[in-house]
Amino acid sequence: MPVTRDTPIQFLKGVGETRAKSLAEHGLETVGDLLWFFPYRYEDRRHPTRIADIGRHVNEGVLLRGKVISARAHISPVKHVKLFEAVLQDASGAVKLVWFNQNFLARQIERGDHLSVFGVPKATISGHVQIESPDWEEFEGSEDDAGSIVPIYSKVGTIPPKQFRRMVFTALDECLGDLPDPMPAEVRAVLGLTDLRLALEGIHRPAELTGEFLRYRSPAHLRIILQEFFTFQLALRIRRATQEVKKKERRIRVDDALREQVRGVLPFRLTAAQKRVVKEIADDLQSDRPMYRLLQGDVGSGKTIVALIAAMIAIDNGHQAALLAPTEILVEQHYQRIRQLLDDSVVVARATGSMTAAERRTLLAGLREGVIQLVIGTHALLEERVQFQSLALAIVDEQHRFGVEQRQRLFAKGGTPDILVMTATPIPRSLAMTLYGDLELSVIDELPPGRTPVRTEVRTSTALGRVYSFIEREIDSGAQAYVIFPIIEESEKTNLKDLTAGFKEIQERFKRRRVAMIHGRMSADEKEQTMKRFKGGEIDILVSTTVIEVGIDVPNASVMLIIDADRFGLSQLHQLRGRVGRGERKSWCVLIHDESEGSEGTDRLRLFAGTRDGFEVAERDLELRGPGEFLGTRQSGIPRFHFGNILRDHDLMDGARDAAIEVMETSGLPHAEEIASKLLGIEVAATARD
Ligand code: ADP
Ligand code: MG
Repeated sequence: MPVTRDTPIQFLKGVGETRAKSLAEHGLETVGDLLWFFPYRYEDRRHPTRIADIGRHVNEGVLLRGKVISARAHISPVKHVKLFEAVLQDASGAVKLVWFNQNFLARQIERGDHLSVFGVPKATISGHVQIESPDWEEFEGSEDDAGSIVPIYSKVGTIPPKQFRRMVFTALDECLGDLPDPMPAEVRAVLGLTDLRLALEGIHRPAELTGEFLRYRSPAHLRIILQEFFTFQLALRIRRATQEVKKKERRIRVDDALREQVRGVLPFRLTAAQKRVVKEIADDLQSDRPMYRLLQGDVGSGKTIVALIAAMIAIDNGHQAALLAPTEILVEQHYQRIRQLLDDSVVVARATGSMTAAERRTLLAGLREGVIQLVIGTHALLEERVQFQSLALAIVDEQHRFGVEQRQRLFAKGGTPDILVMTATPIPRSLAMTLYGDLELSVIDELPPGRTPVRTEVRTSTALGRVYSFIEREIDSGAQAYVIFPIIEESEKTNLKDLTAGFKEIQERFKRRRVAMIHGRMSADEKEQTMKRFKGGEIDILVSTTVIEVGIDVPNASVMLIIDADRFGLSQLHQLRGRVGRGERKSWCVLIHDESEGSEGTDRLRLFAGTRDGFEVAERDLELRGPGEFLGTRQSGIPRFHFGNILRDHDLMDGARDAAIEVMETSGLPHAEEIASKLLGIEVAATARD
């Protein structure tokens, strides 16, 4: 029987029942599945090293080619392990190859064989160089024949890499020939996709390792990325089309008078990214479908002004807008900033848990009667008794744990409000989907001009004296500083002893300076007063917990000193670092960490110090902690794209989305379902309607 992509993997040459079981554990059940199991790196084995030169390549991979001049199996007298040793010789010299507990090799490698060997030369205790457990292949032809580029796959069970490669290659040889392309020809043309067969062949057996290829930008990679993005977008559209979506009743319009008004409010020119995002949001507001949009932008990228413009659009059309922030400090900051920008043209109010009864009554009445046009508040806004006259837009700032339940609560306030969730945490699209369902994504991928990048340094506590002197000089030059202690404010029971002790120490050290402390258990009023004084330059050093982690904007602060930095997650450190470097001042983030050199904590912090890119930090954090912890929730079964990265490839995602919309519009739902079924290999119509 001929092998096709649907053949159970067990029947592929070299597999069999036992291996089929381990393959199944990795999701590899049919021969076709192997085609989509991609290598994670490659080794260029085309250029052999002269054996005489391997001393210069100790501890790095080399390719050797030569003739076996001796081969024997024996038991090591010292360690009592079975050894198989062979000596490989080329025109320049000879080297010993050693394998442990693989004496079956005696039947495979014999004196006189010609081999290609790939391994890592190691210096032995006695000072000579040998190669342990190398990869090898029998090699025919003359010694200077070209080798190949070898794909390296992640390990599947106990299947030796070479056998696994053979299985993949057999699968390619057997089924590529008549593999159908599931992407419709028009879509392939629009997206400029290369042939699927060429793409799969190219990724498993590349002819060259170009820079483009290694950056996943080769035509082969683009084909895979776009196919997966398109599939995802199409599935999303189908789900939407088959779900009943409530239409909005209000009509929102953006006219020239409003544009003029917005221009009058802006204290600076929007960046190109901000403009693009404002347009995306304005389009959503004007459509008759409820908006559900995630706005991602690194710390300091300027999300607040975008939110404000969105709110102005809703308000100008006679409706109300609400801005939810995670902390009272942030509510206060937004309130002050927005009041300053809008003057008295809009009625703005605050809502926090610490309002007095009288304040609360006024607020509730004002919202119900529509007198208050914009309200800025904490989660207190989600309470049931908060009712609006006409809530058109709810904006959620810096809160990635905002989920379906909160959304329902907002909808319960009537009028199907448009929802905009803003976050500095770059949540991969696939993750965002499982968290938020059917949301749209906007990305601000550009910082406002004139920022000097923050310099990050890792120091031990023995260097604190010098760091303090440095802070002293910074304050002399008119700047301000933060000192953060590792108290993570989530529970009421947080022990503030460390913070209080730290505060005393800083006060002692900086006797001439104005030092203040802020933490989550102070009253809202105290917090507000302290932040106001810090912003106003009346405080030189602010000693704090992570309560200032998100959103705080004091452009004059130039030093962020973090004690016991290894106790924070990388994304959290990135947020803290984002509190400085917000103005024209050159800024520093100093991480204090005591642990022996080379420990994991130090490496992690060094790595953090070496990058300023929030996307990279988040990815690294995801790798280290896993998605559940990264988001503070337990999630599983998260889909992943093979090469596509929603953070870097959002332009590709946009293209895929447009193509999916086009297909829905021109061919209609049944045809779209047919295409999706082909792409996913499952019956889409049935699943969508269940
Ligand atoms: P985040 O995205 O972290 O919430 P903010 O909205 O707080 O960032 O903006 C950070 C700082 O950058 C603020 O001081 C803000 O006034 C300023 N800012 C925002 N957009 C621009 C711009 N286009 N040009 C100059 N400064 C800007
Ligand atoms: Mg912000």
